[in-house]
Amino acid sequence: MYENAIYCKRCGKEFDHASLKKKKYICDSCGFHFRIPAMDRIAMTVDRGSFEEWEPDLETENYLNDVAYVETLQNAKKKTGLKEAIIIGKARVLGLETAIGVCDSNFIMASMGHVVGEKVTVLFERAEKEKLPVFIFCCSGGARMQEGMISLMQMEKTSAAIKKHSDAGLFYCSIMTDPTTGGVTASFASLGDVIMAEPSATVGFAGKRVIKQTIQEELPKGFQTSEFLQEHGMIDGIVQRKRIRQMIQFLVVTNKNRTENINFTTEKKIRFLPFAAEYIQSSITSSKSVWEKVKENRGPNRPASVEYIKNIFDVFVELKGDRLYGEDGAIIGGIAMLNGQPITVVADYRGKNIQENLARNFGMPMPEGYRKALRLMKQAEKFNRPIVSFVNTQGAYPGVGAEERGQGWAISQNLYELSSLKVPILVIIIGEGGSGGALATAVGDEVWMLENATYSILSPEGYASILWKDSSRASEAAEKMKMTSKELRDLGIIDKIIPEFGGASKENISEISKYMKQEIIKFLIKMNKQSKDIMLENRYRRFRKF
Ligand SMILES: [Zn+2]
Repeated sequence: MYENAIYCKRCGKEFDHASLKKKKYICDSCGFHFRIPAMDRIAMTVDRGSFEEWEPDLETENYLNDVAYVETLQNAKKKTGLKEAIIIGKARVLGLETAIGVCDSNFIMASMGHVVGEKVTVLFERAEKEKLPVFIFCCSGGARMQEGMISLMQMEKTSAAIKKHSDAGLFYCSIMTDPTTGGVTASFASLGDVIMAEPSATVGFAGKRVIKQTIQEELPKGFQTSEFLQEHGMIDGIVQRKRIRQMIQFLVVTNKNRTENINFTTEKKIRFLPFAAEYIQSSITSSKSVWEKVKENRGPNRPASVEYIKNIFDVFVELKGDRLYGEDGAIIGGIAMLNGQPITVVADYRGKNIQENLARNFGMPMPEGYRKALRLMKQAEKFNRPIVSFVNTQGAYPGVGAEERGQGWAISQNLYELSSLKVPILVIIIGEGGSGGALATAVGDEVWMLENATYSILSPEGYASILWKDSSRASEAAEKMKMTSKELRDLGIIDKIIPEFGGASKENISEISKYMKQEIIKFLIKMNKQSKDIMLENRYRRFRKF
């Protein structure tokens, strides 16, 4: 038994403070993440000796002349050795300069009074001046009641400072830690370009007790946890504490100020593989019927978007959620690196096995999938990242929920916004491109198709059913619909055919990917030489001509 022992809330294991601190406050038995004092968080996150504190001496006033508050403040100061519930400053993380804020729940539950709001505001104002990205480790019980309306005003004050920092093209990531609640979730904690959360953290606006009393019902299991938020599309992902330094490094590198040009440092070093043009042409002579191609594209042997992503890019970090309703696995998205250049990738995905197929609606997106894709593509525009979109879907998910949440509206918003997004967009149809559900992520400066992929107004079954009232004539419809890569190139619907070297499969995916990768690089180099105005004019004309 340790003196002043600390027990794991989940598995009950006993720790003394020193050993727990050494373990970054993570239970080595069950992985539970304990709350952390702010100074320890800074020490374990930033490069040693690099932290420069900003506004260390700010102290609050007793706005409501509350005698008890004076005592509460004194006790909190004594207990934590801090003057307030947040520490802010500038530091390096793996050599990269960032502005950083860390809340401490031991100080009056890190509630937001005047000083917390003031320090968060100063953090963004100074970061804007010094052109720094901001990372905040959030936790809070909400607004500080003892400061009344002055506390409430901090919500708007911090939000306004974040907006200015964002309008300057700068990046902000909030990391929600246990517990992040109340007015802080309704202001600075939720305003990150990227929002991460530590595992099992409590995150929510209204308190559980209040909700339960109001609705007079049992709350769902896992309600108001990080995992619950991720499932409901509110955060980009859950990050293990041990990986936070690497996460910060990746996000700083991939989210630079938008005024910087696309930087293809490797342009001169790339040696393009000598794929013979004749070979590429001769390979586009598949003897399969169109209907056979459609069926093969839906089959389990056709390589999926994730496999191309893995083969083409050096790193891919997935970002989740539409921040409105849910996380739709039928479209995945995130940030990848291609020879040192950050790229935003979105892709339809059906999953590898039947459980995944079901969880991902067999690759048929919901409105939340399209909204997530749009959210990530607008983020790409803010940080000047080109976009590569892999399309492979039978179509948008037909269902009651999808209609209730505005399937048509969601697709229309993508078509509208993508038409003028100020970064290059490349679309690659890798399997089946079905209808408006495919088009929602298939608007770009160039649209490419794998040799045996198909792209059509509707599935052949649907076409036969509507025009001939007989879905069994799908095979006949497929021949008629002009949905193959060659036919669509002749129509000008697509710009390039990617050869499959005998048919895309697990055996030759690395060859196809190598070819795609070098074509993507050539595309980016070409687009990089073009002004944005010309790019947008060309994109407009590309679709205007039909
Ligand atoms: Zn434990």
